[in-house]
Amino acid sequence: MGYSVSIFETQDKLGGMMNLIPDHRLNKGVVQSDIEFLLTLGDIRVNTGSNIEDPKHLLTQGYDAVCVTVGLWKPIELDIPNADLAIKMVDLLSHPESFDFDGRVAVIGGGATAVDCAVTAKDRGAKHVELFMLEKLSEMPLTPVERQELIDFDVEVSSRIRISGIQKKGRSITGSRQKRLLCRRGCHSARRMYMIWRNRGEKDGYQCSCDGDRHAANNYPGTCPRSLLCW
Ligand SMILES: Cc1cc2nc3c(=O)[nH]c(=O)nc-3n(C[C@H](O)[C@H](O)[C@H](O)COP(=O)(O)OP(=O)(O)OC[C@H]3O[C@@H](n4cnc5c(N)ncnc54)[C@H](O)[C@@H]3O)c2cc1C
Repeated sequence: MGYSVSIFETQDKLGGMMNLIPDHRLNKGVVQSDIEFLLTLGDIRVNTGSNIEDPKHLLTQGYDAVCVTVGLWKPIELDIPNADLAIKMVDLLSHPESFDFDGRVAVIGGGATAVDCAVTAKDRGAKHVELFMLEKLSEMPLTPVERQELIDFDVEVSSRIRISGIQKKGRSITGSRQKRLLCRRGCHSARRMYMIWRNRGEKDGYQCSCDGDRHAANNYPGTCPRSLLCW
């Protein structure tokens, strides 16, 4: 269309969330060469390290139009007790080298980013990593290669579970409270289950908890994570 374009990027390089995808799944050299190619397609100027707080203001600085394409960097909050102790996916995957795990790690979530967090936690020293999610393994939105990673990296998968609280001693995580979901008539997918749940509150499901090395009540095995990641 003949316009000159300026890109304002708050980070020090382009690529957005793609830069958070672990290297074994996405070669960053390919991302960079794609970006370099795209920048040759027109009069495009890049301003990295440039955080735009008021996009409208750009219209007073000689721009004819502003496209806001800022992604989704603020995670959905878990709204459970002690959720502030959990490590956010963005923090872990932006700077995996800042995290060293030793022991058990629980990951809350059942999508591709949860698998990336699980594999990264293993890479960073976790002895045991367990995914907690509403989905069954067969319902996880993964490619066959991503699903295979769960086996290759020996990640445990706990389905039909909702983490309803994080237990702590001081600032240390000692366990989690979990609700085991029961499949009822008309409740055969994780999404449907989540909706029924939201509508009915937290009545459904077994509840179990664990503390230190003690395992759970109600005949349902709990877990005692030292760290929790969520996405
Ligand atoms: C761990 C992980 C794994 C993923 N795996 C896959 C996958 O396998 N397949 C797939 O298709 N997708 C995957 N995705 C999703 C994919 O990365 C995103 O869908 C895609 O990056 C979204 O692009 P976007 O341009 O909309 O937003 P983003 O990539 O988030 O880009 C938005 C950019 O805007 C910048 N920004 C935000 N606010 C401001 C501001 N105020 N001023 C200036 N700049 C700002 C941000 O720094 C960012 O660079 C994955 C994402 C993650 C995190």
